[in-house]
Amino acid sequence: MTVITRFAPSPTGTLHVGNIRTALHNWMFARARGGKFLLRIDDTDAERSEERFVDAIRADLAWLGLHPDHEERQSARFARYETVFAELRAAGHIYPAYESAQELDLKRKILRGRGLPPVYDRAALALTDADRARLEAEGVKPHWRFRLDHATPIVWDDLIRGPQRFEAQTMSDPVIRRADGSWLYMLPSAIDDRDMGVTHVVRGEDHVTNTALQLQMFAAMGVAAPAFAHEALLTGAEGKLSKRLGSLGIDALRGEGIEPEAIVALLARLGTSQPVEPHVDPAPLIAAFDFAHFGRAPAKFDERELAQVNARIVHQLPFERVVDRLPAGMDAAAWQAVRPNLEQVAGAAEWWHVVEGPVAAPAPGEDADYLRHAAALARSIDWSGDPWHTLTQALKEATGRKGKALFLPLRRALTGLDHGPDMAALLPLIGRERAVARLDSNAAG
Ligand code: GLU
Repeated sequence: MTVITRFAPSPTGTLHVGNIRTALHNWMFARARGGKFLLRIDDTDAERSEERFVDAIRADLAWLGLHPDHEERQSARFARYETVFAELRAAGHIYPAYESAQELDLKRKILRGRGLPPVYDRAALALTDADRARLEAEGVKPHWRFRLDHATPIVWDDLIRGPQRFEAQTMSDPVIRRADGSWLYMLPSAIDDRDMGVTHVVRGEDHVTNTALQLQMFAAMGVAAPAFAHEALLTGAEGKLSKRLGSLGIDALRGEGIEPEAIVALLARLGTSQPVEPHVDPAPLIAAFDFAHFGRAPAKFDERELAQVNARIVHQLPFERVVDRLPAGMDAAAWQAVRPNLEQVAGAAEWWHVVEGPVAAPAPGEDADYLRHAAALARSIDWSGDPWHTLTQALKEATGRKGKALFLPLRRALTGLDHGPDMAALLPLIGRERAVARLDSNAAG
């Protein structure tokens, strides 16, 4: 069996960490099994769907490296939905209902008032042909419900949640199509999963009830249902995530210097029993992917954790991955030198500025003579090897200084700072001329 998964966003907005995680797990599972990953644009809702969001979704997935093997669009498949609708209707699985929203609301209120679950009473099924003709003559257009099979309990073995069971009679026959002919999500999705050979539906646990209903749709179509994996939703470190999702879209994260590899590494493992590991190459994450590692508890998304993973990713990024984001003139050696000190790639510019100068060093105080000595040595040492080691070794022998007293005045004079990248990597970048000038001018106060 070739595994086929799909990510099915509605293009009514941009992606955020919550649905990126769903996309990622679909992609990882397909890749782990040598299968296919589909992008399905759920754009049946013409009013709320926008082309710019379709483009943004594609671009975001590409940026993350989650390349779909194939793309489908629901809006191109209306004729197909019509055909299946007609078949299901002819077989008695779909029926017209005429209640207005207000009537339905009232029915629900009455049931609730009696302490009963607000399940649709199927009054529309009792209508005669004459009743329907009269209603339609009055201009009432029907909406359409899928008739659940009450005789068969709905069961499936969820790949994350384990055995699931629903009693159909405790659920309302779902409305699948509105009076204006537009589709609700449920039936087109089941038709697509069937037609596209989807073997595994991986989505958030907010879809568990939909799955119960869709399993009956697969049965009505006479086809086997795919396997399902419903993952626990993401929550923020301080509770609900939904309110802040706008700030957790790809644009915002990219704007904060978050790398796609960091998002992938964190979201691959969030909510699982496996540790978060900052892999630049997702292959080991994919190889270790298994629904068995997923927990039932909500997964906590913490931006600080993402920032930490990001730093660990940045420390490993090869020069080619970042070259177009580095300041002009910054080469591979410079990137290697500053990379361990960065939290974001953009921070490289700051260190490049330190290399190029000018730097403002603090007044040397009693270190002035020491720095004069250092400047003289910097003029005479061999710069071709490891000038930092050569210089500090010579200074140590000449002055007897060691540790902080040996190194810190030099770092200050050369970079203007107390901390920063390894001086052994930085000094060759600063170079002889600038180093001598900085030591001289700092010595002079
Ligand atoms: N368009 C649906 C959503 O975004 C798809 C759900 C599914 O994966 O079936 O919620």
